[in-house]
Amino acid sequence: MAYDLVIKNGVLIDGSGLPRYRADVGVKNGRIASIGRIRENAREIIDADGRVVAPGFIDGHTHMDAQVFWDPLGTCSSWHGVTTVVMGNCGFTLAPCSEKDKALVVRNLERAEDISGAAMAAGITWSWTTFPEFLDAVDALPKGINYAGYVGHCALRSHIMGERAFEQAASEDDLVLMERELREAMCAGAIGFTTTRSPIHETPDGRPVASRLATWDEIRRLVGVMGELNAGIFELAGEAVGREAPDSAAFREYHVRLRDLAVETGRPITFGNFSRLEARTVWPRYMALLDETAAAGGRMFAQVHSRGLNVMLSFKTQLPFDNLPAWKPFRALPLEEQQRQLRDPAVRRRLVEGAHEQPDRKALGTEARPFPYEWIFVYDTVQGPHRTVAEVARERGIDPAAAMIELALEKDLDRFFVHPVANEMQDDVLEMMKHPRAVVTFSDSGAHVSQIVDSSLQTHLLSHWVRERQVFTLEDAVRMLTLVPATHWGFADRGLVREGFMADLIVFDPDTIAPEMPEVAHDLPAGARRLVQRARGIAATVVHGEVLLRDGKHTGALPGRLLRGPLA
Ligand SMILES: [Zn+2]
Repeated sequence: MAYDLVIKNGVLIDGSGLPRYRADVGVKNGRIASIGRIRENAREIIDADGRVVAPGFIDGHTHMDAQVFWDPLGTCSSWHGVTTVVMGNCGFTLAPCSEKDKALVVRNLERAEDISGAAMAAGITWSWTTFPEFLDAVDALPKGINYAGYVGHCALRSHIMGERAFEQAASEDDLVLMERELREAMCAGAIGFTTTRSPIHETPDGRPVASRLATWDEIRRLVGVMGELNAGIFELAGEAVGREAPDSAAFREYHVRLRDLAVETGRPITFGNFSRLEARTVWPRYMALLDETAAAGGRMFAQVHSRGLNVMLSFKTQLPFDNLPAWKPFRALPLEEQQRQLRDPAVRRRLVEGAHEQPDRKALGTEARPFPYEWIFVYDTVQGPHRTVAEVARERGIDPAAAMIELALEKDLDRFFVHPVANEMQDDVLEMMKHPRAVVTFSDSGAHVSQIVDSSLQTHLLSHWVRERQVFTLEDAVRMLTLVPATHWGFADRGLVREGFMADLIVFDPDTIAPEMPEVAHDLPAGARRLVQRARGIAATVVHGEVLLRDGKHTGALPGRLLRGPLA
């Protein structure tokens, strides 16, 4: 056979941003072998007539560190055309850490990233202590898509310092040991180092996670290791000073620290940047910092999302009222019993009354808002328009909490509400995506599995911003999801359809590609719950020349790999 796979008759959008053209793509030994009019035979042929052929999407911000052990397909990301993910973000990794200390790192993921502890206990076979051993474990796993991993500061710190990591600054001895461990991780194939300095990242007992005890000097020493090696990306969940005091000297001082670190180490620094309703002047300053850093001789890029960061609310999953005294015992009842009792007006009255107590802002994942019902939307379709609960309540002349109950009952409690906790204003979202130093990524896939479904950010970009709003060409949008992240994360032979490049490809219908409605699934180890969201319009997903998914269904192939960093 001349080829292992030929994708015929498709329209090629090659990831570069250049205009589309009709071409067949021939694949051999996992790589793209030929582009043009292919007449030779092949072991497998995909007819892509009327469809677009593009590089598989690359997501630079996931938390699949635990999920990779039980879900080789990397769902929900792979359902949305993603063929390569980066894990280990925000300082949270499962290594370095010995099995006896695993509670120290597992609890971080459980609390800060909402990954089920039961699922992790049942789904992970712990076979490592060091980060190189962890990479070997991931390497040996069956995988549908490709995974690259950072080494996380929380694990690194607690591995070296034990319980002291949660209490104190590192000593010189600690620092030397951390530097050595980080160097070894980089040489084994970590693609960088991550940390969190975010005040929302706490342990289950309400203490700061380990990396938050680090001084800035500790950060400089560790990122400095990557500087010496001339390799690796530094990702961080940043300090909140801007949100708290956007005009303060402290916020400027934080930016100067980031800029100077990028300049002094020469390593790229990256972080998520989101618009927040309460502090809309903050995100443009981070964008300005990217340009300022470049002008000073450093590298820095922002990770942005294609829509609001949405918490999904429903009786079947979570509500903002769940921890209120009047609601807590009620919500502990089986769902059918809740539904039965909700038909009783007395019960409803009591719950509505109880909802007037401070609704649980933490459950909403947000700070104080003037009136959250204005920001809770009825979510019956993905594309909207979505009415607010406040609007429905006014129309019906009832309390908004009563409206939420009524709306849910009308659908036998099978109704979602959506609450954006960031990126509320879509004009801001668009402007951020257009910034030349921004990368559209940050699905957070693998984390927040019962709250948020952001794994659909890629299909949302194509359905909403390209097809409905027509603010990007399909060529531009594909480039934003392929060549741009491939370049930033250093995947040198991915992100383009070119001869010699890895054959990570997707075939999709540009007229129908879109996210489907989210659903509740109990498919995690130990039966733990998560929200899942599939996509429509993707005919085939190819990884290393093997068809992984056809119309969203797994073919049985597991062609994914661990992608080691540049020093391995
Ligand atoms: Zn993260």
